[in-house]
Amino acid sequence: FADYALAQSTDPHPVLAEDERYWLSRFSGEVPVLELPSDRPRPARRSFASSREDYQLDRALVDALRALGAKRGFSLFATLLASFSGLLSRLSGQSEVVVGIPAAGQALDGHDHLVGHCVNSLPLLFEMDMSKPVTYALEQAQSTLLDAIEHQRYTLGTLLRKLKVGRDPSRLPLISVMFNIDQALEQQRHALQGLELDFDTNPRSHENFELFVNAVQVEGGLRLECQYNTALFDGSTIRRWLGYWRTMLEAMVAEPEQAFGRLALLSETERWQVLEKWNDTEIDYPHDRCLHELIEAQVERTPHAAAVVSDGRNLSYAELNARANRLARHLRTLGAGPDQRVAICAERGAGMVVALLAVLKAGAAYVPLDPTYPADRLAYMLRDSAPSVVLTQSHLQELLGDAPRSVLLLDAASPPWASEEGGNLERAGLDSSHLAYIIYTSGSTGQPKGAMNEHRGIVNRLLWMQDAYRLGADDAVLQKTPFSFDVSVWEFFWPLMTGARLVMARPEGHKDPAYLADIIQREGITTMHFVPSMLHVFLESAQRSEAGKLRHVMCSGEALPASLAARFHERLPAVELHNLYGPTEAAVDVTAWACVAGGDGAGVPIGRPIANTRMYVLDAFGQPVPMGVAGELFIGGIQVGRGYHNRPELTAERFLSDPFAREVGARMYKTGDLGRWRHDGSLEYLGRNDFQVKLRGFRIELGEIDTRLETHPGVAQAVVIARQDRPGDMRLVAYVSTRTAAALDPAALAEHLKSGLPEYMVPSHFIVMDAIPLSPNGKVDRKALPAPDTTV
Ligand code: AMP
Ligand code: MG
Repeated sequence: FADYALAQSTDPHPVLAEDERYWLSRFSGEVPVLELPSDRPRPARRSFASSREDYQLDRALVDALRALGAKRGFSLFATLLASFSGLLSRLSGQSEVVVGIPAAGQALDGHDHLVGHCVNSLPLLFEMDMSKPVTYALEQAQSTLLDAIEHQRYTLGTLLRKLKVGRDPSRLPLISVMFNIDQALEQQRHALQGLELDFDTNPRSHENFELFVNAVQVEGGLRLECQYNTALFDGSTIRRWLGYWRTMLEAMVAEPEQAFGRLALLSETERWQVLEKWNDTEIDYPHDRCLHELIEAQVERTPHAAAVVSDGRNLSYAELNARANRLARHLRTLGAGPDQRVAICAERGAGMVVALLAVLKAGAAYVPLDPTYPADRLAYMLRDSAPSVVLTQSHLQELLGDAPRSVLLLDAASPPWASEEGGNLERAGLDSSHLAYIIYTSGSTGQPKGAMNEHRGIVNRLLWMQDAYRLGADDAVLQKTPFSFDVSVWEFFWPLMTGARLVMARPEGHKDPAYLADIIQREGITTMHFVPSMLHVFLESAQRSEAGKLRHVMCSGEALPASLAARFHERLPAVELHNLYGPTEAAVDVTAWACVAGGDGAGVPIGRPIANTRMYVLDAFGQPVPMGVAGELFIGGIQVGRGYHNRPELTAERFLSDPFAREVGARMYKTGDLGRWRHDGSLEYLGRNDFQVKLRGFRIELGEIDTRLETHPGVAQAVVIARQDRPGDMRLVAYVSTRTAAALDPAALAEHLKSGLPEYMVPSHFIVMDAIPLSPNGKVDRKALPAPDTTV
């Protein structure tokens, strides 16, 4: 053993040099860090507390697996390794996975009688291509395994030194998961002939690795002994994973030519749980109603109650209704009707509410045009939506250019509709599958895209909201979200269908916490919305007493940090906080969660699907992923919108047919959001899978800014990223390379953007570079983009 140890430590060693070359070339790229979905956040310091779950694979399956490999010359070990790495890849969502195997050492040239501890851990790197067939994965595993064994003398410690793997106190470097197969038992049986022999090991209470799977060959098949780190995982999770593994092994045997990533993983029960049980949201709402009809019904119930409060003046339900009816009649004479569009460019106020309601009553869809947007953008939205009429106010008229179309001034002294009749209109061909509104959101190709929403979707959303949170005559809702964002849709219409008061904040009022605190008091606001970043600002400036009558705060638009929710409960203990989630493409919100004080320390979930809505968490092959595993969020059910106006390709890309729904023709929306199911059937939000970001609640496709910058004559290439160099301080930074030798003036670039983009899309920093750094694959190397000087 001494000779052996000496040989091991003699460096350079001719044989070892060859081994070294092998291992260094295996890990020439970035060393992957396996991120298995843990039940608890990973502790800052690695711990060793461990427990074990055992799982039995029956003999028939093991024999079939052996036969599957044997037919192609692969060992059972290789077959199990392939499937194990495939399981890890699907659990982690990572395509590169390192699995360690122990090599005994004694098997080497004449060492078979050597007594001593010669074990070395070999890191096997699997580069998974889940679209290739099972047999390909087996072949890959077999050659990876044989190569590793051939080069097993090279120790892991030496490799780690050479690779300069960064050390992280929360995890082991390179190998965090081990796999071993115990094949020695048959031999031991022979050695002890005549004795009844049973060989077993106790679970360890201490284990270095996050997972250590030991496959033991036993009488009835194979026992998978799975040691796991208890700080990270629950036994029930490990048992589930072993179940997935078995399901996958069975599928491998049944369909060896199937794409590796398409093998079944979930048991029937669990598939039912994620697809059906947690989506059991059916409620029998009147799906044939139109949005404005909900309000007309309320007008009947409380005609004299205050409906809209604006600038200290009240408009009763009856007045609001009559004014909207008159305008609606006039709109119809100008061609407004089902699926036609009417654009509204107005400041917040009572006139805006009349206009919105009138467009719906006319049977058309409203298109909000924010008067703070630059003329270029408004012109594009007008061209794209091609409205039959534009409603605006006299001081905003010039924003709209002079394209030929009917423009009506909402503030005209004696408008042409003043003499129209004030009673409700007939439907005139309208039904709940017609469009109610089109809202434009940032688009990655350089122009915004109009998300089309139908009456039945938004009606469902509002009926659910009333079921869930109950507004009544004593309630007042603050309308402060710019009407070009869909949160405003519930702010407007929910109070008006329930007899509550709709209180209009002054224009730009949503940006001013002191004003908000004041109006909450003054108007007795009971319900309002915040994007989390604004809620933060509000809480830090608000006094406890300023909650007034506030009862419900709805948060949505971006991730709600647990720390902010905790702060909220501390500051406003009597107020309920709700986290809602949903894209403009699916009638505002599709999941909801009631936050509770002293939550469980993990992030705030986005909750469960709301009425008549289904949520799916799918992998790259469109299959449901197991609970706890990250996937893309898809939305099914009645709220899925019609698509993007005039954008059939983009619509086809994002609005897919829903393979899990019972109704024929059902569609689902592909969100680009990442999420996972929690054990309780609620969803957790995990970020985006593209370059869409949220900045102070504003939805921004970074590609839209890049494209706009590249239309500047001096710009060769532009990349905008949202960076958070200081906690809580997210900002847009533009990296620009020049076409000309002349210096580019950042102020000129900002001006160029301001002529086409809303303020919130203009980066706060511009960095002009000779060239944008590219990575070997030709893509922008985002990591090589410098942070702007944070002290400036
Ligand atoms: P919007 O269309 O403006 O509502 O933006 C929709 C996007 O905002 C979603 O696709 C998410 O990326 C993000 N989002 C909305 N609500 C939430 C939420 N409660 N938590 C995390 N992200 C959210
Ligand atoms: Mg939303």
